[in-house]
Amino acid sequence: MPRERLYLFDTTLRDGAQTNGVDFTLADKLAIARMLDELGVDYVEAGYPGANPIDTAFFAERRPLKGKITAFGMTRRPGRSASNDPGLAALLAAEADAICFVAKSWDYHVRVALETSEEENLASIRDSVAAAKAKGREVLLDCEHFFDGYKANPTYALACAKTAYDAGARWVVLCDTNGGTLPHEVETIVGEVCRHIPGDHTGIHAHNDTEQAVANSFAAVRAGARQIQGTLNGLGERCGNANLISIIPTLKLKREYAERFEIGVADAALGHIARVSRALDDLLNRAADRHAPYVGESAFATKAGIHASAIMKEPATYEHVAPERVGNKRKLLVSDQSGRSNLLAELERIGFAIDKDDPRLSRLLDAVKEREAQGYAYESADASFELLARRLLGKVPRYFEVEKFDVNVEQRINAKGERVSVSLAVVKVKVGDDALISAAEGNGPVNALDLALRKDLGKYQSYIAGLELTDYRVRILNGGTQAVTRVLIESADEEGDRWTTVGVSANIIDASFQALMDSIVYKLVKAGAPA
Ligand SMILES: [Zn+2]
Repeated sequence: MPRERLYLFDTTLRDGAQTNGVDFTLADKLAIARMLDELGVDYVEAGYPGANPIDTAFFAERRPLKGKITAFGMTRRPGRSASNDPGLAALLAAEADAICFVAKSWDYHVRVALETSEEENLASIRDSVAAAKAKGREVLLDCEHFFDGYKANPTYALACAKTAYDAGARWVVLCDTNGGTLPHEVETIVGEVCRHIPGDHTGIHAHNDTEQAVANSFAAVRAGARQIQGTLNGLGERCGNANLISIIPTLKLKREYAERFEIGVADAALGHIARVSRALDDLLNRAADRHAPYVGESAFATKAGIHASAIMKEPATYEHVAPERVGNKRKLLVSDQSGRSNLLAELERIGFAIDKDDPRLSRLLDAVKEREAQGYAYESADASFELLARRLLGKVPRYFEVEKFDVNVEQRINAKGERVSVSLAVVKVKVGDDALISAAEGNGPVNALDLALRKDLGKYQSYIAGLELTDYRVRILNGGTQAVTRVLIESADEEGDRWTTVGVSANIIDASFQALMDSIVYKLVKAGAPA
């Protein structure tokens, strides 16, 4: 049976840019547009030309993308003609394949926010669609507050949608702008709309305020809609937009959708979707959500021992899809609850073939349990676990030795009369017969220690040149009478690999030092540095 085409419309660069703390530069926008293009989305909505310098610059020239570049803006203002509206003129002048207009479809908003008549709002929709069509653009109409509007006045909400469709809009997009509509309501309302506007001209734009934006998108598709709007990682104001990173794998891997629909995302591109998700977080300089469906670090992680032994035999026993399909990895967590199967599987993954009756296995299990009782968390720190295992099996060279370090934090009043803190670290390292001393200033004691430690490692320096710390997390544990500090450090290198290390101590600097050391040694092992 031929499959129906379902279209994906990405609005990371427009609606996603409304996220608190997100501020895209032009270079960011171009990089994200390329990522979206590699993924295979059909429409890349890039912003509002004329509204700010970055968006205006984006649309000032033709951008070579396979997806349709879409400019976003308002329909003509009430009481003006289409030819006499500067906002509309900027939109029509943009170098874009498609124009997405936003218009009110809730009579209450037309009256209160727009302060115009229902008829004038319909005329504005009609004229704007016609003007963009005349310019040769594909046209979309975002019906703002469509679901709330439909509940209040179905006739008028539908009239807005129908006016755009009759004027030649390729898509009429039903927006759940406040994000409060529930899936069964979306399914009913979209079903009713599709009796008047064909489903292959109807889209859904859902917000995540009840954490059901993805479910709402699928409810709309079940009711007939054939365009889904969303963003990478669900970026968007308040609680975000529908998350395309979750929607795409479901469309490709769940039979109900995969058998009925075809999308522009190829299997090979799906195999990189975890990387796309992480690349966006890197660009935003924020830690990835470990529990994100399909792509999170924990999405295919198993902790309990009995699950792990089953998963080793038949992965499908505890996995709803194969992690490789979305570019993710199966992970068996090593922790004090873990059985031998987890441990064996982890050892195998890092390249140690060891017999299940080998006495070293019990020693490693005991070491993990003992250290976890002190506060170490190996299930979060894969690289520290690997080093612990390698050390017990006798396979980590002594590359260098830190003979001593000294960290000094000074608070004083500077020349401008401001109170400032300055941190200085001095590290004395022995590499072979060479004694090296490095000093560095940092914005805090851990930063200074890190900079000093990685400043000069003699013959090993070239191996750690691409090493970068990407996340630093501190947790105070109240295990007994005295609090201890656990530090988790995430590192990345020039090959795009990431690993996490852990340190535990009553002293935060000591805990950080252990995690930093593990990270450097792990990188040297990984790079095959000679002893
Ligand atoms: Zn929106």
